[in-house]
Amino acid sequence: MIKRLDHVAIAVKSMGPVLETYRRLLGFSDVHIEDVPQQGVKAAMLPVPGAEIELLEPIDPQGAVARFLERRGEGLHHICLEVDDIADELARLKATNVPLVDQQARPGLAGNVAFLHPRASHGTLVELAQKTGREPKPGKPPPGITGLGHAAVVVKDMAQAFRTFATILGVPVDGKALERPAVKLGFIKLGNSDLELLEPVDPNGDQARFLAERGEGLYHFCLYVADLPQKVAALQKAGVKLDRVRPPERPDMAFIHQDELHGVPVELMQAGWHPR
Ligand code: ZN
Repeated sequence: MIKRLDHVAIAVKSMGPVLETYRRLLGFSDVHIEDVPQQGVKAAMLPVPGAEIELLEPIDPQGAVARFLERRGEGLHHICLEVDDIADELARLKATNVPLVDQQARPGLAGNVAFLHPRASHGTLVELAQKTGREPKPGKPPPGITGLGHAAVVVKDMAQAFRTFATILGVPVDGKALERPAVKLGFIKLGNSDLELLEPVDPNGDQARFLAERGEGLYHFCLYVADLPQKVAALQKAGVKLDRVRPPERPDMAFIHQDELHGVPVELMQAGWHPR
């Protein structure tokens, strides 16, 4: 059984400036940093209530993250789902012929972990993790950040993506798409967070450009904030480039532009609100 979205992971060339940006724009200061030589990376865990943001900097030029950076540049690298029994999940996936990177769980930063092959899931690398109790204790989340809302994947065909993720995640999906001017949106529940599916509709929209340039895959993630109008005002005052800021009478979401955050757009959503 899948319990929740444990973390979203971002591949970065150099951790220092990215940590400084996340501190300056979002207030992340209590960060756990650790070398994970088995995966050829240095990892930083940024605490969000109930989840984490993971930054991965390659320390092995031959490693998977180094190769990812060469191929795609800095950006979202994978999502990790906490499961109650990883051996069970791997057996279920093998029985449905889902391609796996790891046939067996191995020790990782988030617990005993295994990666699915991204060709199984619309370019989205998925990590499964079963907690062992030996994970590093999460730090103190920044004031005003209340949770990880969703990780968003750009897909070519929403209906097909719903079918694929229903199979690989083994979770119920409603298959409902919401129509927006630039995209169709779909949501799959992962604990208190969601996986958001985005199918571009406007050929000149950001999501269509992402699809043309990088192919299907992880596009942005979303943080819940306690007081969105206040956060937006503070960011605007600091001269931070924002996107899709809603009018004051409907303060439900805003994006910090990807240029500010090393290639990853970060959506801020008013806590307690959901697009569905
Ligand atoms: Zn991870």
